[in-house]
Amino acid sequence: MAAKVYFARLKNGSTPYEQAQKTKEIFDAAGAEKCISPGDFVAIKVHVGEKNNITHMHPEIARAVVEKVKENEGLPFLTETSTLYKGERENAIKHIMHAHRRGFGIDQVGAPFIMADGLAGNTEIEVEINGELNKTVKIAREIRLADAMVIISHPTGHMLTALGACIKNLGMGLASRMGKMRQHSSMKPTIKESKCRLCGKCIEWCPENIIEERGSSAFINSEKCIGCGECLAVCRFGAVEYNFGRDSVIVQKEMAEHAYGVIKGKEDKCFFINVLVNMTKDCDCLDKKQEKIISDIGILGSFDPVAIDKATLDLTAEANKRNLAEVSYGKLNAMHQLEHAARIGMGSLEYTLVEI
Ligand code: SF4
Ligand code: SF4
Repeated sequence: MAAKVYFARLKNGSTPYEQAQKTKEIFDAAGAEKCISPGDFVAIKVHVGEKNNITHMHPEIARAVVEKVKENEGLPFLTETSTLYKGERENAIKHIMHAHRRGFGIDQVGAPFIMADGLAGNTEIEVEINGELNKTVKIAREIRLADAMVIISHPTGHMLTALGACIKNLGMGLASRMGKMRQHSSMKPTIKESKCRLCGKCIEWCPENIIEERGSSAFINSEKCIGCGECLAVCRFGAVEYNFGRDSVIVQKEMAEHAYGVIKGKEDKCFFINVLVNMTKDCDCLDKKQEKIISDIGILGSFDPVAIDKATLDLTAEANKRNLAEVSYGKLNAMHQLEHAARIGMGSLEYTLVEI
C-alpha cells in the first residue's frame, strides 16, 4: 500500500520561524500524535552540524517538535550519537556543549539533550533484524529504551552514500560506534607514526589488546582487529586513521539495515520529518561553510522512512531537474539505500504526496 507523505511548501529563504510553524502544521495534518502515549519517553533525533557548518537544521524546528510532544503528554528529549571522526561531536561532553552553543540547549528548546550512545559512543544494544548482510545490528542503547521517536532529518548529498536523509539519519546517526564502524569501514584502523605521541591511551582501551608500542609510535595488529573504533575515539592527536572508502552500494545497504534495527519494534511509534531547506552537496558533518545547491522546498512528514526519502528525491528533481543526490554526487546512486530498505520491510517506495 502506498504510504502518505505530507508536504508543506516553503518559499526560498524561509525563516526558522516559518520552518518551525510548517513543521507543526505537518505534525498535526499527519496525525503524528498517534505515535505518542501519555508518559512516553520520546526521542527527537536532531543533527546540530559540525563546528563551521551553518546550514544544519535550525533549533526552532526542534523546539516546535518538543512543544507538540509535550502537548500530547510525552516526555521529549533531543538525542544524537558520537561521531567516529574527530570534531565537536566526537564524545558526549563536546557534543552536548556544542549543541548548547548552537541553540539546542534545554533552556532554548525546552528538552534535555541526551546522548543515545553514552559518554564515549559505546553504550549499545544488539538488535536482531535478519537482514541480507546482518543477522543483528548494534545501535545506540538509549534509543532502544525510548518509547517513541520523531526523527528530524536535513537532507543533503553525501560523498559515500549519495543522499543523507532519513535512512542515513537513522542508520548512521543512531548506530553505536561499532555499528558505524561496521557500516563504514572495510579496512581496519592504522596509526600514523608522525602524529602518534605514544600517550598509550589506545593501548589501554583496545578491547582486543592488539595495539603495542613499536619504535616511536603505537602499532595495530590489523589481523586481529574487530573494527570497534575504540582507538579512534580515545586518541586525542588524530593519529588513528581508517578508510571510509568502502563501496557505496555496500555502505548504503549496511546503513539501511542499521536503520531498520533502530526502528524495529517501534514501527507504529515513529514519525519522520525531512527539512528540505538549505540543502548542500555534502552533509552537515563537514566542518565547513557550504552553499545551498537547490532552492528551499518545504517540510515533509511521514510514518514511512523510505517514502519520505523517495519524496525528497522526487521533489528535489522536480525543482532542479536532477535530484539532490544526482546534483551532489552524480556517479553514485542513492536508490540503493531506498531499494534495500524497502526490500527488508522498512517502508515503501510508493507514496501519495499530500500537500497541506
Ligand atoms: S578498532 Fe578496536 S580492536 Fe581494532 S585496534 Fe582499535 S580498539 Fe583495537
Ligand atoms: S592514543 Fe593516539 S597518540 Fe596515543 S598512543 Fe594511541 S595512536 Fe598514539
